[in-house]
Amino acid sequence: MPVEKIDTLVVGGGQAGVAMSEHLGKAGVPHLVLERGRIAERWRSERWDSLVANGPAWHDRFPGMEFPGDPDAFVAKEQVAEYFAAYAEKLGAPIRCGVEVREVRRNAGRPGFAVTTSQGVIEANRVVAATGPFQKPLVPALIPADAGVTQLHSSGYRNPDQLPPGAVLVIGAGSSGVQIADELMRAGRKVYLSVGPHDRPPRSYRGRDFCWWLGVLGKWDMAAPAPGTEHVTIAVSGARGGETVDFRRLGNRGMVLLGRTEGYGDGSLNFSPDLRRNLDRGDENYLSLLDEADAHIASNGLDLPEEPEARKREPDPDCVTDPLLELNLAGAGIATVIWATGFAVDFGWIRADAFDERGRPLHQRGVSVQPGLYFLGLPWQSRRGSSFIWGVWHDARHIAEQIVIQRKYFDYQGKAQRTLQEA
Ligand SMILES: Cc1cc2nc3c(=O)[nH]c(=O)nc-3n(C[C@H](O)[C@H](O)[C@H](O)COP(=O)(O)OP(=O)(O)OC[C@H]3O[C@@H](n4cnc5c(N)ncnc54)[C@H](O)[C@@H]3O)c2cc1C
Repeated sequence: MPVEKIDTLVVGGGQAGVAMSEHLGKAGVPHLVLERGRIAERWRSERWDSLVANGPAWHDRFPGMEFPGDPDAFVAKEQVAEYFAAYAEKLGAPIRCGVEVREVRRNAGRPGFAVTTSQGVIEANRVVAATGPFQKPLVPALIPADAGVTQLHSSGYRNPDQLPPGAVLVIGAGSSGVQIADELMRAGRKVYLSVGPHDRPPRSYRGRDFCWWLGVLGKWDMAAPAPGTEHVTIAVSGARGGETVDFRRLGNRGMVLLGRTEGYGDGSLNFSPDLRRNLDRGDENYLSLLDEADAHIASNGLDLPEEPEARKREPDPDCVTDPLLELNLAGAGIATVIWATGFAVDFGWIRADAFDERGRPLHQRGVSVQPGLYFLGLPWQSRRGSSFIWGVWHDARHIAEQIVIQRKYFDYQGKAQRTLQEA
């Protein structure tokens, strides 16, 4: 069987793979996208049932197509997936679904890569790894498997009925953790939520969604933080039409807020005494955005309605004034622990000298140190927006431009070669 050859092979048919295909197609670069599941598979099968986009439809989309319906609505995850499938169809994107890439190996002594897939080997001059910013669920090895509680990662959570009866402890209060905890409390569960440092922008302020504010204030374009900067999670939600995440409000409604989870022993968890500090820091982040928005409105003479009530703060719930530092899981009736502790990337399938000692890609704006290898959709790949729907589209354009530049060098024939051909 002759080996299939392609100029550029894109691994992953999520939003990143679709965006990459659009820009490569426009640039006339022959390419193929391989997706092991369906287009936008993670939106379909690795997220909880009730998830809606965190940004409104007018914002969380590609420039080339709008979502049907209300542009201010928060689109359900299935519709997000359908959007990318329709987008790919509109492009006529060469996406082959149901094909898993098992290994990408840099050729020795010649350019290009040998790509081993579940359906044979493909030779590619270039490879773009677009397998997602959130690939491998991170679960700290803290609570032993035999501790008598069900443990799952947020990526495995679907709905309240899936969990055994009893109270639930959610560890991690970024967008996933806080939305899951809220859903469980609304379903009548007793919920404990371990809250670490976080940013907490207002859902909207003075008539504009925070996505708009982050855009006009240049915050989506913020460059990657310096190495070693502590990653701070962002707690936002599009649920029920979009609401500001307010931990004090959740506490006053009965959720037990806890500080950062620190250790486990004898059936009990320990928490850092940092709950109030984390909430205060979240409030500071919230208020600083209101201040910046007010200053932007004033300096640009915008006619947007005042919203003084946005600065009102709920009283501290008891769990904040008198925080629990230790919790016996059985004593509290906790039957399930949900780890909403984030994800890591996993590029173990790429055999090329392109990673640091912790397996993180060495790259500049997605262009790897390994010639011919590119990454797309990494967290903070070029800016804060890189791992989000609208941001990845712009990063894909940059990668396509870089590929076009390299193809030109590759195709260049020196004078001697040209003379030889003419002779
Ligand atoms: C809970 C949650 C909610 C989010 N909500 C929003 C939101 O509202 N708005 C927003 O802008 N962003 C949101 N994001 C962030 C981001 O948009 C998503 O994570 C998005 O799925 C990333 O798209 P991607 O294409 O980069 O990666 P993925 O969606 O992860 O796509 C990668 C694809 O590669 C495939 N794949 C992986 N390995 C292989 C292989 N070896 N061979 C072949 N195929 C492979 C996978 O099946 C997958 O389809 C959210 C993230 C999470 C976790």
